[in-house]
Amino acid sequence: MTKKYAESQGKHDHSRCVSRALATAERICNERHLRLTPLRRRVLELVWNRHAPIGAYDILGAMKEGEGALEPPTVYRALKFLQDAGLVHRIDSLNAFIGCEAPDDNHAAQLLVCRKCSRVIELDDPSISKMLVQKARTLGFMTDAQDIEIKGLCATCRD
Ligand SMILES: [Zn+2]
Ligand SMILES: [Zn+2]
Ligand SMILES: [Zn+2]
Repeated sequence: MTKKYAESQGKHDHSRCVSRALATAERICNERHLRLTPLRRRVLELVWNRHAPIGAYDILGAMKEGEGALEPPTVYRALKFLQDAGLVHRIDSLNAFIGCEAPDDNHAAQLLVCRKCSRVIELDDPSISKMLVQKARTLGFMTDAQDIEIKGLCATCRD
């Protein structure tokens, strides 16, 4: 967590983050017999373009620059696939997506969303998810193992 956080904050060779994320995605899809089509791979690459959330329309815009124009539903379907495969997280409050830092462990993430710069830091603490599920159950509520968004200020914006 600390290392990942430092990486996302400071200057680093981001092309390594992207190639690592794509290689991990390919391996995971192979293991789970999921089809990472060239389109889905390209969408994932665009999500990983930076360590910040990206909206579907920005992805659409970026894809138009490359190959031929795509219809929005195509991109939405690709994003849904990546989300279901655990490769990206959707940040509902920003209507945007971010690449998952640890797609190997199937998890519900706690996403720390900076209210000022929209940076998202992923906190994957299974004990938090577990506690939430249990507490909800005592109220007769069945949770969907959804990601949680927590708003606040990141270290940079607090300065
Ligand atoms: Zn990076
Ligand atoms: Zn994640
Ligand atoms: Zn911030």
